[in-house]
Amino acid sequence: MDFSFEVLKTDPSGARLGRLTTPHGVIETPAFMPVGTAASVKALTQNALEELGAGIILANTYHLYLRPGHELIRKLGGLHAFMSWHRAILTDSGGYQVFSLADLRKITDEGVRFRSHLDGSEHLLTPEKAAEIQLALGSDIAMVLDECIETPARREVAEAAVKRTTAWAGRARKYFEEFASRNGNPPQWQFGIVQGATFADLRRESARQLLDLNFPGYAVGGLAVGEPHELTCEMTAEATALLPTEKPRYLMGVGQPEQIPDYVARGIDMMDCVLPTRAARHACLYTSEGRVLIKNARYIEDQRPIDPHCKCAVCKRYTRAYLRYLFAAKEITAAILATHHNVQFYLDIMRQVREAITFGQLGNFTAELRARYLAGPA
Ligand SMILES: [Zn+2]
Repeated sequence: MDFSFEVLKTDPSGARLGRLTTPHGVIETPAFMPVGTAASVKALTQNALEELGAGIILANTYHLYLRPGHELIRKLGGLHAFMSWHRAILTDSGGYQVFSLADLRKITDEGVRFRSHLDGSEHLLTPEKAAEIQLALGSDIAMVLDECIETPARREVAEAAVKRTTAWAGRARKYFEEFASRNGNPPQWQFGIVQGATFADLRRESARQLLDLNFPGYAVGGLAVGEPHELTCEMTAEATALLPTEKPRYLMGVGQPEQIPDYVARGIDMMDCVLPTRAARHACLYTSEGRVLIKNARYIEDQRPIDPHCKCAVCKRYTRAYLRYLFAAKEITAAILATHHNVQFYLDIMRQVREAITFGQLGNFTAELRARYLAGPA
């Protein structure tokens, strides 16, 4: 097993420059992970992802379990071989999708019973099952099943969810460790997830309880789901203050481009977000000067690239006028080009963040990014 994590430098802000080594390559952290829900980052080929410099992508357990099925993927050599992606993959536990997508879900201490959003078939997702599916997929990093609740949450609800999340994490860890003792260590790291909604003491309690289970890495979940950005940062800081400095921390499902350095400054090493890919398909382009809504009539004759500061293949070659036309004509290429640029933009922000930490300039970089970004496009 070829896993390690090292912190190379810590910024006065709390930001960390690090290196995560996996059996599928070394990832410089802080890292952004593009989301490949159904074993595909929508509108991007694996070649394009390599060209963009993505070292790790995320795939969704819920989707792959329902279709094509984890047993088929195992039979075909695991997720890396199946999708021909030879860099790292992180899989979520399926919990978030069960709570947000599936019908008729019923939560008990045993797990979550739900109906597939595809064909209505009934399934039971337990902490053990989520671990089993991810071992079959063979992802580099697997997440434990946690209970996701709606925000804002009442305290009693959040408390009960923390309790259940800890119990489930314990069962997932046990399943994983028994698997390892039977079959030898799998080439996978399993991460625990800190919950606690927007209650600082519950976040601390959740982190403390998970520490006893000795995960090789920890995620912070259930944030950036509608609460104010300051509160997301505060809750993240409550969790990371208690997490071991020598282990990677992953903030799930964030965020807006100008918010990324704020999370890094709270000691976060990894993030994922559907925003760059989803927004691209809706003609929303992220640039160093803010969002460009490319369908707008003002771009009809605009001969400039999407972002004059971007070095991606799309900005080097195409004009805003052409992109606008492709969206208006509903050409498939519109989504492909827009996604390519947006993913480059997110990966570039992380490159710049890492550079800023290297030179002790994260504070200045963050202020400059926000000012430029919020001023909006010319
Ligand atoms: Zn570009």
